[in-house]
Amino acid sequence: MPVPKRKRSRARRDSRFANKGIKVLTMATCGNCKSASLPHAVCKTCGHYKGVKVLLTKTERGMKRDEIRKAKELKKKGAQA
Ligand SMILES: [Zn+2]
Repeated sequence: MPVPKRKRSRARRDSRFANKGIKVLTMATCGNCKSASLPHAVCKTCGHYKGVKVLLTKTERGMKRDEIRKAKELKKKGAQA
């Protein structure tokens, strides 16, 4: 009966199980922007859930931040003059 020549190291043995916990994600398509998103979750691309806008996207937050910054600058200029 064939027998392994050497003992397998812990690293070699454990590397076999390294990807055991990884699962393939099931993806759904967003009804609004048609991009891939997780099912039963808000679309991260457009912020829609079941056809309703519920979240601001990263770019929208950036735009809002810019608006606030501009308003603050205007206020400062108004206070100085
Ligand atoms: Zn979307």
